[in-house]
Amino acid sequence: MNNPRINLHIHSTYSDGKSPIEKIIKKAISEGLEYIAITDHFTNSWKANIIPTLDTAYKIDKYLGEIEKLKEKNQNLIVLKGIEIDLGSSKEYILKYINPEEYDIILFEYLESIESIAFIKSLLVLWGKIKSPNKPFPLLGLAHFDPSYFLYQGLQVLINFLLENEIFVELNSSYSQYYSRKYSLFYEKVKEAGIIVSIGCDSHDTNRLADINGPWEAIKDYLLQNNLLQLINKINNST
Ligand SMILES: [Zn+2]
Repeated sequence: MNNPRINLHIHSTYSDGKSPIEKIIKKAISEGLEYIAITDHFTNSWKANIIPTLDTAYKIDKYLGEIEKLKEKNQNLIVLKGIEIDLGSSKEYILKYINPEEYDIILFEYLESIESIAFIKSLLVLWGKIKSPNKPFPLLGLAHFDPSYFLYQGLQVLINFLLENEIFVELNSSYSQYYSRKYSLFYEKVKEAGIIVSIGCDSHDTNRLADINGPWEAIKDYLLQNNLLQLINKINNST
């Protein structure tokens, strides 16, 4: 497997990113990226008072419409419509504004406890009731996942949860400490269980759009190439 040109975690001016979506797409093409996802912030936790977020139905519609239009215009780059949900948000708020069918990818940030696993599980049950039965969920993943919260307790619970729900773990170049060697036990489990992995940069400006080498080196180091291939196959099958 060659170095895949993939960055599934990018912020635009719809939240705290510095560049409009159109500029991100242009730059992604010039950087030779093959797959990108625009994943702006969604939250009603404390964070909502600090950064701009996707916080009204009007803004979300506009955001998704804009990505859709640019997607059609740029067929040599695969662009996924995404969102990054802060797990500190309330369930009511998420259910009010997010219809999973409108997205290609949903990232969850700050999965740090068994309670958060239960939170996602119950969300998936509720979303399952509103989506059409034969349509699969969008890609689901954990943004900049910090394994330290599960290393000494609940690791198997986490692995089973990810496996059952086909949720990927993102290796994020803005948080290289989370794929450092001290977490090799976690990544061995990920490999063994066949958990999907992804590459994201958490890009907030276009200069860091192709900052993907760190995660790719870690994926090779932990022998997770097939786990990444699963993700790419899923994208190719759905687009
Ligand atoms: Zn992010």
